[in-house]
Amino acid sequence: MRGYRTLMKQAMRSLLGRVARSALAVAAVLAFSGLNVPQSNAQDLAKTLFGAKDLPAATAPQSIGFYSKGCFAGGVAIATDGPTWQAMRLSRNRRWGHPTMISLIEKLSRDAVAGGWPGLLLGDISQPRGGPMLTGHASHQIGLDADIWFTPMPDRRLSPRERENMSATSLVNEKTHRVIEKLWTPAHERLLKRAASYPEVERILVNPGIKKKLCDTVTGDRSWLRKVRPFWGHDYHFHVRIGCQPGSPDCKRQAATPAGDGCDKSLAWWFTEEPWRPNQNPDAPKARDVMTMASLPKACRAVLSAPDPVSVAAVTYPVDGGATISAAEPVAASSAGAQPLPSSISAFAPTPDIGVPLPRSRPDN
Ligand SMILES: [Zn+2]
Repeated sequence: MRGYRTLMKQAMRSLLGRVARSALAVAAVLAFSGLNVPQSNAQDLAKTLFGAKDLPAATAPQSIGFYSKGCFAGGVAIATDGPTWQAMRLSRNRRWGHPTMISLIEKLSRDAVAGGWPGLLLGDISQPRGGPMLTGHASHQIGLDADIWFTPMPDRRLSPRERENMSATSLVNEKTHRVIEKLWTPAHERLLKRAASYPEVERILVNPGIKKKLCDTVTGDRSWLRKVRPFWGHDYHFHVRIGCQPGSPDCKRQAATPAGDGCDKSLAWWFTEEPWRPNQNPDAPKARDVMTMASLPKACRAVLSAPDPVSVAAVTYPVDGGATISAAEPVAASSAGAQPLPSSISAFAPTPDIGVPLPRSRPDN
């Protein structure tokens, strides 16, 4: 563990050093050329401005605001290909996250492979500077959320076209909301357990059918089930959320997950008719479609106008930073699963939390 952390720190230091140098270089160019950085107006749609950014803000890493209303600076990208992962839907340019999120994905991929999973297919993380997106996701705005496919990585490199078009397989019957037994495997359970084992990970969102399957079948240590929360969708991918990181004083934490494994009446609610009623107001605009710059934290304007790094490569997480690290430790139920959860643990906003939850608005992804 210590070896891993040391190596990771070195990798991050060299990466952040590069980011800082490129930020300085660009800032110097701006100062000398007297260029005006375009200003955003309060009424501008945030999704348009953030969706137009190809590169992160070249500053120190910082998440600002809330998972569903915020942005982030100092983002880094995960490489499109690593020894233990492949990123999907490359055209979306959502391979960006807080450096801790990116290094955690890399570590999860390596640990998962060491434990027998063929490798990760990565879905959306965040836009380069976060913020609301033109399509999909209510959250994923502050670089601390990532989607990972339940479909194992194939043993060949997918073409860019395949990464756009390959469809993922749902593990859940959409009528019964139960897991499709012939598709569910113990390896899926192990992958989720491993993801939940990291202290940084505060929540993992899965379809209620998957949560129920875990509730019904996990034996031994069940403490990690507390982090695994049922939510709409998430039948072909799971969503990993980490907590606010040091250096982000404006990152807004969420409420704690309720105590216990969550295999209770809050789960039973998902197997009633209520959560699946048709949307009564399908044409109502989604939050991301009306969110203006004024509704985001003020600091997000500075994030928008911050300089670019010199290149994507300069801010892409070093693949070899992980590849040289020796085989990962197996998930140790005693240490990892039993890790006490921090009291500041965050929750995914719209997830019903306690008792019999009230219906909330449904996301579109
Ligand atoms: Zn997600």
